[in-house]
Amino acid sequence: MYLKHTPSIINPLAKDLVFDLPNDRKAIYVTFDDGPHPVITPEVLRLLDQHEVKATFFLIGKHAEAHPGIVGQILDKGHSIGSHGYDHLSGWKTNNEDYIADIARSRKSVDSTLFRPPYGEITLAQSKALKEDYSIVMWTDLSADWDDKYSIDDCFRFATHKVKPGSIIVFHDSEKARPRMLATLEKALEFYTEQGYAMEAIPMR
Ligand SMILES: [Zn+2]
Repeated sequence: MYLKHTPSIINPLAKDLVFDLPNDRKAIYVTFDDGPHPVITPEVLRLLDQHEVKATFFLIGKHAEAHPGIVGQILDKGHSIGSHGYDHLSGWKTNNEDYIADIARSRKSVDSTLFRPPYGEITLAQSKALKEDYSIVMWTDLSADWDDKYSIDDCFRFATHKVKPGSIIVFHDSEKARPRMLATLEKALEFYTEQGYAMEAIPMR
């Protein structure tokens, strides 16, 4: 079970985490988790180019290490990158020392001060240990593109029906999401553009 939209409840963690980036430019932030993938990430980059939008890629360190050329392409095109850990660990299931070490290990191949916790699972102690070095970026809306119980229309609805200035929306450049992600992304980019949103990369520092 996961929440497709972050609830507005306040917990002690919330103040250390970035859930949205409110602004008066009608800017929103399209993000991709779990790449880079040697085939799927270039497909995403082409789609972003066609729509002339910038995005943010939260990269798994071991994938970035295996595909440094794709990381270079993302940056050359003016998108941002952030860390999604080296080994995609859950903070809830990993002790603090190992969790922090895993993120530090990802820094060699993912040079950024942005971090998104895998599964959104991070503890208060972990966020406190990281917040000096990283902006911990959560989201407002999950497309649920990795979940094969949903159709492209469902994912499109999840990615668009609550969008507002400052929204941070999650897609995945992964094998699991691919059957839904590309078509959902294309429809969503068209929708955001028609609605007058500017899609921007999250600043890396
Ligand atoms: Zn992930």
